[in-house]
Amino acid sequence: MNDLQDRQSHIPEQSINTDVMTDVMIVGAGPTGLALAGQFVRYGIDFVMIDKREGVTPYSKALGIHARTLEIYEQLGLAQQAVEQGAIAEKARLLKSGEGRAELDLSNLGAGLTAYPYVLFLEQSKNEQLLYDYLKRNGKTVRWQTELTSFSQTEEKVTAQVKTVDGTSQRLEANYLVGCDGPKSPVRHALGLEFAGSTFERVFYVADAQIDWHLPHDAVQVCLSKDSLLVFFPLKGENRYRIVGTFPEAFSKDEGDVLYAEIEQRIQEEVELELDVHDVEWFSTYKVHSRHVSNFSAGRCFLAGDAAHVHTPVGAQGMNTGIQDGYNLAWKLALVLNGKADKTILETYNQERLENAKHLLQTTDRMFEVAASSDWLLAFLRTHVLPLIAPYLFRLDPVKHFLFPLISQIGIHYRYSLLSQQAGDEPFKVKAGDRMPYFRVEGESIYDKLHQPKFHWLIFSNTPSDFHALKTELDSLDLDLVDFNFISLDSQIVEAFGVDNAFNVFLRPDNYIAFISTEISPNRVKLYLKNLTT
Ligand SMILES: Cc1cc2nc3c(=O)[nH]c(=O)nc-3n(C[C@H](O)[C@H](O)[C@H](O)COP(=O)(O)OP(=O)(O)OC[C@H]3O[C@@H](n4cnc5c(N)ncnc54)[C@H](O)[C@@H]3O)c2cc1C
Repeated sequence: MNDLQDRQSHIPEQSINTDVMTDVMIVGAGPTGLALAGQFVRYGIDFVMIDKREGVTPYSKALGIHARTLEIYEQLGLAQQAVEQGAIAEKARLLKSGEGRAELDLSNLGAGLTAYPYVLFLEQSKNEQLLYDYLKRNGKTVRWQTELTSFSQTEEKVTAQVKTVDGTSQRLEANYLVGCDGPKSPVRHALGLEFAGSTFERVFYVADAQIDWHLPHDAVQVCLSKDSLLVFFPLKGENRYRIVGTFPEAFSKDEGDVLYAEIEQRIQEEVELELDVHDVEWFSTYKVHSRHVSNFSAGRCFLAGDAAHVHTPVGAQGMNTGIQDGYNLAWKLALVLNGKADKTILETYNQERLENAKHLLQTTDRMFEVAASSDWLLAFLRTHVLPLIAPYLFRLDPVKHFLFPLISQIGIHYRYSLLSQQAGDEPFKVKAGDRMPYFRVEGESIYDKLHQPKFHWLIFSNTPSDFHALKTELDSLDLDLVDFNFISLDSQIVEAFGVDNAFNVFLRPDNYIAFISTEISPNRVKLYLKNLTT
């Protein structure tokens, strides 16, 4: 008997009351659950979201918000607020033996690749609040202090038992259930899905505090060390920093046994300069796991976020990846629930996001090795070579064009997906399965035209008559699933796609390319949509 079933058995039968029916039950209102719910609002899907906590997290936890997340926030109308509330990472300073050895300009690393060419520092607590406020503005809420105690599923539905704060139990029925219930995921356990991987022996620490030292509060301060990691991230507020570090491999204490005094001592030793750490708002110690689930779904139940993958914090990928999981799943569930697609489309959620999770674990493990390994060669490169070459490397376009898409998650693609139709994409720089490239049209981001929760059919041509004929044909199909745009070809578009004659792009609702071709015909759009229903 698992934990869930065990607790369920203690709830007396007579306290079970009203049934609730909904399309989707979301378990967990962390950033993943809240972002998924935000997408359901866009698609008009009914959901019930529960969380055993009292409200959104008061802790800063995840800090780095990447470009792809801001593109998703933009569709919810939240990107501007996020940028205003956060701080753009302007530069990084590499410190060795207490001295600044090099500075890297981070402010515009992704110039020309997205409307958000930087990393934004915005605490998880503020992200959760933004998303939660969005739900409330749209008449939705979270059932706080409500815990999932058990669930079962049949071919037709999922039935769940939840326990509220006053001890009463409720039965909920939903067409689907999504477990966004964090790394220990009771949903994952109950589904019996494997969570294979490994645990790093190092103990990590994290603290938000004020620091008095001679360094300006204008940069991410990275201490280069032989065998550990220590980074100070500037937060909004006078001299406020997020401190993230690891104890060396030889440190033998368990995560729960570490005292704050030991963390401060470790910081003092490693930074090798005079500093006073005070007004500590919170701190935490933890061991990092690198694991992913064997399958993102089982029957009518899905997993998203930390419930499906956990990894080192290097690269600040955790929260961003959870938000993208939800973004990938929401439109597919919406199509199925609205009868516009067969349920087989839901298999592509696992196909696309499992592949991404595997790749994510490999890259974050590798990044951690480079950042903190005690291997003598890596340690030598990190402490002696990196400060010399990093400032030059960060100015090189090929380096920027590799690093930024990787970290910002705009480089994620689904070329191998069943939803990506390669036919016709041969002459193009971007392929079916790629994220829609960013460029500006008449001074505005192309993404401004892609806010509607629909497929987007984009015709790029300099012959307006093409547009009128195609639009009339498409309108006659009465497809409220497709948003149609005609865009004049210009040099930026030719540069972005690598083709200078008329072409069309059919985008999925999450702005990934379903197909791209110089053959422009509504028949292909019709066929693509028809295939979804069979
Ligand atoms: C100390 C710390 C520092 C971190 N730093 C970073 C960082 O710098 N960068 C980064 O990207 N990531 C960081 N992370 C990871 C990041 O916080 C996670 O990736 C992110 O929170 C995942 O969001 P989630 O919504 O998937 O899961 P969670 O945030 O864990 O949310 C899961 C929710 O499910 C609820 N829940 C669980 N079981 C039940 C149940 N039975 N019934 C009802 N509700 C339930 C929980 O109460 C919780 O609210 C950090 C995490 C920690 C703990």
